[in-house]
Amino acid sequence: MRVLKCPACREPMIVAEYEQVEIDTCVGCGGVWLDGGELEALVGRAVPPKPTPDPDLGPPDRDCPICVHKLIKDRYGRSQVVVDKCPHGDGLWLDAGELAQILAAYPHALAEPSHHEDHATGALRGFFSAPRPASPKDTE
Ligand SMILES: [Zn+2]
Ligand SMILES: [Zn+2]
Repeated sequence: MRVLKCPACREPMIVAEYEQVEIDTCVGCGGVWLDGGELEALVGRAVPPKPTPDPDLGPPDRDCPICVHKLIKDRYGRSQVVVDKCPHGDGLWLDAGELAQILAAYPHALAEPSHHEDHATGALRGFFSAPRPASPKDTE
């Protein structure tokens, strides 16, 4: 299994499964790395990239954990959450809480829309509390 280093604090990240998408999660800072297309899978739609980075968001300050090029800051769709994206499409980085903000902007993203925010928040809290109990899948 690959081990990616957190772009924010350089800790090795762990892989957590969320809504059947494997997410690299940093237990140090609570951020998550999503491979290219994974966030689109979670929100259930394609969000077209902006042609040019938004200059108001400041210079790149983090490296892609896969190709080590600088991540480009951009606002993600209608959520307006600032994400750090790999210029080569490897994926994008979300600081702690940003995934929940993005999912909250796409209320039909998850299977249980009426419990959507609690569901996302609870799942994220589970990611970041250590140690995690083994999931049922691991013990089968
Ligand atoms: Zn980190
Ligand atoms: Zn990259």
